[in-house]
Amino acid sequence: MNETLEWKDIAFLREVERRSGTPVSACFQCHKCSTGCPIGPEMDLLSSQVMRLIHLGEEEKVLKCRSIWLCASCEACTTRCPMGIDVATVMDTLRIIAAQRKVPAPGTRGERFYRSFLSSVRRHGRVFELGMLTVYKFRSVDFLTDLDKAPKLLAKGKLSFLPARSANVAQVKEIFRKADEEETNR
Ligand code: SF4
Ligand code: SF4
Repeated sequence: MNETLEWKDIAFLREVERRSGTPVSACFQCHKCSTGCPIGPEMDLLSSQVMRLIHLGEEEKVLKCRSIWLCASCEACTTRCPMGIDVATVMDTLRIIAAQRKVPAPGTRGERFYRSFLSSVRRHGRVFELGMLTVYKFRSVDFLTDLDKAPKLLAKGKLSFLPARSANVAQVKEIFRKADEEETNR
């Protein structure tokens, strides 16, 4: 391994550690995070494999994997890690880096869902489900999946036709502004 590659390896590991605030380098590959992950069977890389690839500086493989977009942020991995690594936040950090570097998310609509969800919260101070789903459907160009569930959701009052604007919309917008500012400065 030459010196340039070593520096590249460490640079990506250090970047992920700095931005996530968690010691990824402490991972010793026990796989406890992966075995407890409810989305594991759908993932192309298990969380422990993601950790290992970060160690190896395999930035492209990590940022292009589907797993970071399928991760449901349930934090089961974080709870199970014996080294106290916040694996869920690492996955979150990788999504942010991938989005900032405009890495296309292959074979998953997760990235479009995240964008639709966050833009709805940013706009209304809370999620407006029907609006968010409409935007997501257009972004993913998939109008039929789960359409059969709409009547039940409407009947149970889970979907409203008008957004319920949060009283704290200004504070929520400020949170988004600060988060954008923090990300720009990282
Ligand atoms: S946070 Fe993501 S990676 Fe961790 S267990 Fe949940 S779905 Fe799996
Ligand atoms: S549980 Fe923690 S130490 Fe074990 S593989 Fe996952 S991240 Fe690494």
